[in-house]
Amino acid sequence: MRIKSVDFYPCQMQLSEPYTIAYESIDQVVNIFLRIKTEEGLEGLGCAAPDLAVTGETPESVLSALSKVAESELKGKDPLRIAKIQERLKKIIVEYPSLRAAIDMALYDIIGKNAGIPLWKILGGYRSRIRTSITIGILPVKESLEHADRFLKEGFESLKIKGGRNVDEDIERMIRIRERTGPKIELRFDANQGYSVEDALKFVDQTRGINIELLEQPTPKGQPEQLGRVTKSVPVPVMADESLMDLRDAYRLAKHDLVDMVNIKLMKVGGIYEALHINSVARAANLEVMVGCMDESVLAIAAGLHFALARPNVMYADLDGHLDLINDPAEGGFTIKNGYMYPLEKPGLGVSLRF
Ligand code: MG
Repeated sequence: MRIKSVDFYPCQMQLSEPYTIAYESIDQVVNIFLRIKTEEGLEGLGCAAPDLAVTGETPESVLSALSKVAESELKGKDPLRIAKIQERLKKIIVEYPSLRAAIDMALYDIIGKNAGIPLWKILGGYRSRIRTSITIGILPVKESLEHADRFLKEGFESLKIKGGRNVDEDIERMIRIRERTGPKIELRFDANQGYSVEDALKFVDQTRGINIELLEQPTPKGQPEQLGRVTKSVPVPVMADESLMDLRDAYRLAKHDLVDMVNIKLMKVGGIYEALHINSVARAANLEVMVGCMDESVLAIAAGLHFALARPNVMYADLDGHLDLINDPAEGGFTIKNGYMYPLEKPGLGVSLRF
């Protein structure tokens, strides 16, 4: 099999609801969409969601790197040989993880379509659905409670609350949200690196009665020993997000017992091929895995879902990045019902693109 053409399109998408996390506020995003066609008539779709603060890329830098590798590394190559292509891309565009993820998902899409099988089954097919959390950004108590009410009404059973700017306000919000939701709803908390070790210990101590499921990236990513101190000191599972960017990070976090869980996002790590390696390290170290996302199209969310469904130790999904996007050119991939995500019975990613 041979790749005949590689086309790509940047697409700016507005968010229906702008949001704030510890280090920024967002009201629009640009994703880069990719379409790889083979001489045999198969078509693989991919999507990159560059984010300067997380992946170190901009839409412009992704487009420029993509124009370069489309000709030299993709055209004329066999799309079924993902390992060969990805290992080569890691050598020449290692600093473009979301671009590598876009190429990776397009190649896996072709593999699935060539086989006539949904991707999650090709990758292992461990479970057929997974619960996702839905995110509440940093907001005053009143708005946080309104969001919680709305999400619960829509059937979600897991909320991820963002914080990290003011620990006392975070504690207050979490307690009020728990009062509102009752005991059965899962509450996750993500400080996005905003806490000191002392803040994190205070947060866990003062929310100890309200059953927080996990504490994500409390401390700065450049200070792994701080993450380790929090993990050793608190009864709540601690998860690395920004501290986990690649396979070596996974190994270091595991080797030094710095966390209980890791958040794998395809855009950070360079796609499913690399995520499978990281997942194996996590499994060997008894770390539970969550699949997370950026502000990304249904297309990329579907790729994250296929990976999440495939492997037994991917226990959690936080795949809500598409929900607020206006004018997403991709559709299909999965359905969400009562907070659970179900893949479509279609080959590959099961997604179509409106251009
Ligand atoms: Mg996070």
